[in-house]
Amino acid sequence: IFITFEGPDGSGKTTQLKKIAQELQKLGHDVLVTREPGGTAISDKIRSIILDPVNEEMVDQAEVLLYAASRAQHVHELILPALKAGRIVLCDRFIDASVAYQSYGLGEDIEMVKHISKYASSGLQATRTYMMDVPVEVSLERLNQRAGATEFTQQLDRIEQKNVDYHSRVRAGFHQIAVDHPERVMMIDANRDVESIAADIWQDCKQLLEE
Ligand code: C5P
Ligand code: MG
Repeated sequence: IFITFEGPDGSGKTTQLKKIAQELQKLGHDVLVTREPGGTAISDKIRSIILDPVNEEMVDQAEVLLYAASRAQHVHELILPALKAGRIVLCDRFIDASVAYQSYGLGEDIEMVKHISKYASSGLQATRTYMMDVPVEVSLERLNQRAGATEFTQQLDRIEQKNVDYHSRVRAGFHQIAVDHPERVMMIDANRDVESIAADIWQDCKQLLEE
């Protein structure tokens, strides 16, 4: 089973993913937790090129292809072998993020981004996608809190620094993806407390295990 978590920056994907991983492990499942861009040494190197704010001159085509290169390595080196070994794979972002950020956000052609993603992943698709939805203001507010928090030295990455219009297009993109793929995507109102969100996701996930 391949489960992906999608949604804007600051929507709480990572927190929920960890909680679901713990629940699955309690039931004795062998779980692989991973993320995009990243997950392998090569993919992580590509991640740092994409996200480094210093690379402000990066053109959109390069961004699309770097995400795809990162994904190709991740899928073939890590995800496919794990699935073959019977593990449950939980991935923080996948192809929907490319469609939302690079197509809806940057304006790159949707069919082309999908096509490149399909090539990169050899057609691998998520079994279920939990789409965390928060208003753009909430997401940007959470990001700024994180960047400003004293216990974190982490600053906003190159994509997070983009303007509100960009992030609004990305959110609209995620909504459209959910509408286009109702059989796979479960939309989650992520502007609630962590525990109620986790309960909703876990209820669906348990059902998925029985299918
Ligand atoms: O999920 P996380 O915040 O770690 O993702 C890293 C960054 O990459 C985020 O700022 C996200 O907006 C961006 N991203 C993107 N396009 C993708 C995947 C992630 O712009 N396809
Ligand atoms: Mg982020």
